[in-house]
Amino acid sequence: MSEAKRWLNQNVKLLRLAEAIEQYCKTNDFETQMSKGVDWYNIQASKAGIARSIVGARRCLNVIVRGRAEDFEVAVGTGEWGKNIFASAVTGALTFGVGFLTAGASAVAYKYFEDQLWDFIKSQISALKNSDSQPALLCPKCSKHVSLDFKLCPYCGFNLK
Ligand SMILES: [Zn+2]
Repeated sequence: MSEAKRWLNQNVKLLRLAEAIEQYCKTNDFETQMSKGVDWYNIQASKAGIARSIVGARRCLNVIVRGRAEDFEVAVGTGEWGKNIFASAVTGALTFGVGFLTAGASAVAYKYFEDQLWDFIKSQISALKNSDSQPALLCPKCSKHVSLDFKLCPYCGFNLK
């Protein structure tokens, strides 16, 4: 139920990509929320009216943008609204809830939207190519890759500003 694609050497500002995806979901009448971690963005989109009443569950579309400007992965799958899929996971495989197809009509609607969303994501990545002019910096203290958005190193707490 989930699909992931990887892009290399596109130099894409991932925050802008994540925000564009969220906006696209909103434009298509989805309720959205975004969470953010050290090297990932998770956009959740839910058609509250359809999905919750029919399925009786808090299903949603889960979009993950993960990695660095030069090497990132986008995954689209279904998940549970409000549940941070990384909360219990160590940095590892992307895992999604399965069994969404039992939802009948709403699943078809989601699947249809997923295909549209992939087209949108691909066009956005082309549009955002070279949008992240500055590469991620290396923390001077612990030498890990750190996004320029961060004031403190998320690994060792070093003040980066
Ligand atoms: Zn550090």
